[in-house]
Amino acid sequence: MKITGTLAVLLIAAGCGGAMPSVPDPRNDTGLVTQRTNVDPGCTSTQLVSTGGPQPRNPSTLAIRWTGFANFELVYKGKVILLDTYFDRGSFFPPLGFKAADVKRADLILIGHGHVDHMSDAASVGARTGAPVVGAPVTIEKLRTQNINPSQLRTVTGRGGEELQFSNFKVEPILGRHGEPPAQLVAAFRRALDETAPKPSSEQLAELKTIRQLGVVGDQRVITEGTIAFLITLDNGFRIMFRDSGGRVTDYEKAAMQRIGAVDVALVAVSASIIQDITVRAALEHARTYRPDVYIPSHHDASFNNLWRATEPLFQAIKAEHPKLITVSRNYREPICFDTENNILRRKGG
Ligand SMILES: [Zn+2]
Repeated sequence: MKITGTLAVLLIAAGCGGAMPSVPDPRNDTGLVTQRTNVDPGCTSTQLVSTGGPQPRNPSTLAIRWTGFANFELVYKGKVILLDTYFDRGSFFPPLGFKAADVKRADLILIGHGHVDHMSDAASVGARTGAPVVGAPVTIEKLRTQNINPSQLRTVTGRGGEELQFSNFKVEPILGRHGEPPAQLVAAFRRALDETAPKPSSEQLAELKTIRQLGVVGDQRVITEGTIAFLITLDNGFRIMFRDSGGRVTDYEKAAMQRIGAVDVALVAVSASIIQDITVRAALEHARTYRPDVYIPSHHDASFNNLWRATEPLFQAIKAEHPKLITVSRNYREPICFDTENNILRRKGG
């Protein structure tokens, strides 16, 4: 029988490897489908582009990979942006699947704040890649004591007038505020952890002590003037807000968001306040302020002390208030790809 016309088109559309589900089936997102269809390896590979993995094929595709704590890799039009750099965490942490030494490519490194769990590998990765490293005064002050060419370091305060322009995107630093978990709560849970959680060995403690020296310790400026939110706007208007600590929203952030209205994606740290009503309150404040289409949490993983920060209560609360908001949480290095041509600014005709 000769197959022509509509039937042929239908057969081609169905593909040789079996019909694609016609409903929003979660299996569409898995390797089961991607293995038998022509999906962009830049959107399926769990190898970071900065460590030699494939870039997205389509120039309008943005690939985002979470790599533990508040680290993200963004890849867009051949450019690699690293948000925070805390990769060599020591053997008391789940492995990320790569080491700082594997990171050989970056065009820009943005450090949200100077605590060790956000910047410990900024100097080594910056030196290896030659990328500019941007951070608050207290962050850059620390980096100046480390092994990186000072000409790569850029200090920003987030108080306005500091927009950084790159070939396919721009970055606006905005002064945020570090999280301030209630001291009594933290102390109580620390006691409980001391009694119940697995303990690092003496070798692991030594390892953690060495790593800790790579970040700012005990400086109040990190809380009040050292936490920077970064608004990244791609050349087609797609907006990403990066916020690496779960603290209160500042007037600077409110003013920026009043000006632009909403972002396409918010990459936001989960508050360290342990108790759900406090972490949920923080997440709601962030969601109300940034008004993202897509909310991607961070800083929820932990060492082998077994105390990850719960994301599901935040998702439930945010979606109850913003039913159209989409929450996405993936494994280490698992890509999340966006067609950036579909963005808030364009939909508004801006
Ligand atoms: Zn911190």
